[in-house]
Amino acid sequence: MRWPGIVAAYRDLLPAAARVVTLGEGGTPLVPSPSLERRLGRPAWLKLEGCNPTGSFKDRGMTMAVSRALEAGARGVVCASTGNTAASAAAYAARAGLPCWIVLPAGAVARGKLVQASAHGARVVAVDAGFEAALDLAREAASERHVLVNSLNPMRLEGQATVAYELCEALGRPPAVVVLPVGNGGNITACWMGFRRWRDAGRCSALPRMVGVQAEGASPLIRGAPVERPQTVASAIRIGRPASWAGAVEAAAASGGRFVAVSDDDILAAQRALAGEGVFVEPASAAAYAGAGRLDPAVLPDGDVVCVLTGHGLKDPDAVPAPSPERVAATPEAVRALMEGGGGARWP
Ligand SMILES: *Cc1c(COP(=O)(O)O)cnc(C)c1O
Repeated sequence: MRWPGIVAAYRDLLPAAARVVTLGEGGTPLVPSPSLERRLGRPAWLKLEGCNPTGSFKDRGMTMAVSRALEAGARGVVCASTGNTAASAAAYAARAGLPCWIVLPAGAVARGKLVQASAHGARVVAVDAGFEAALDLAREAASERHVLVNSLNPMRLEGQATVAYELCEALGRPPAVVVLPVGNGGNITACWMGFRRWRDAGRCSALPRMVGVQAEGASPLIRGAPVERPQTVASAIRIGRPASWAGAVEAAAASGGRFVAVSDDDILAAQRALAGEGVFVEPASAAAYAGAGRLDPAVLPDGDVVCVLTGHGLKDPDAVPAPSPERVAATPEAVRALMEGGGGARWP
């Protein structure tokens, strides 16, 4: 069966869209994590959001935001971005035939994401400031003609809520715990809204606990105060003043969940552990797995634990040390000898 994209799949739970700009987003794989199951003593799952068309969950929101912008007669779209919003906005704007402007914090965006945005024809400007200032600028520059497609755009959250619908359908009930990385806070807000919608539509009675994970150097929600110069290897969540602060706090509090901080070392170790079970994610996504590993099985409710792995590892190739392949003679004997001896370069 052909997956039609989230707007067609969940038409009954989304605002109506006359003309849908879609690249077939959503319908992403949910695969077990043997390592997390061992650690937590419960069924544990990885939701592979990196399998979306542009390699991150942002596509779920962007199909809604760009469809609505087109319908409203916009002449273009604009966003600030730590990278994945830019890649997604650029792709959906290209699909819609609309120009796309992107404001980036200079030097703070992963290479893969920048390449994507320019490949799709976006016009990119960089500012010597953090993401927060870039967002303020994009917001002020936006208008009815040039629609802001950051997660402050309510259509983004509507679309991103669909990850909750997919989880409920795939598991036959809501998970007991959902763990996801938090930067601006839009996604945890949207995901929590999705579970409540599913319940309010009479499709389930229980709701999951929402656990938000931040990097230690960019953890305003754990500290309870903005962070002036956020620092972390996980560029997608390098945000010191989350735009959806209240929504994120509400999701964790109302669900009986919480926020967890993990170090960059934890994040990189988690990225490697996931890669070791076949799943390559960018550092921000690995933070969710690292945070899930911190949960105490003794106080965890029974049921499924889901880690939302928000973006693909290819987005940020520079986060991973590149191996230098061992040079051997171009003969089958030389290659065979290497294999027999267990040689060959690995992740350094
Ligand atoms: C955008 C993004 C996040 C953070 O989502 P927020 O809605 O900003 O909290 C996490 N991981 C990846 C890969 C992202 O692109």
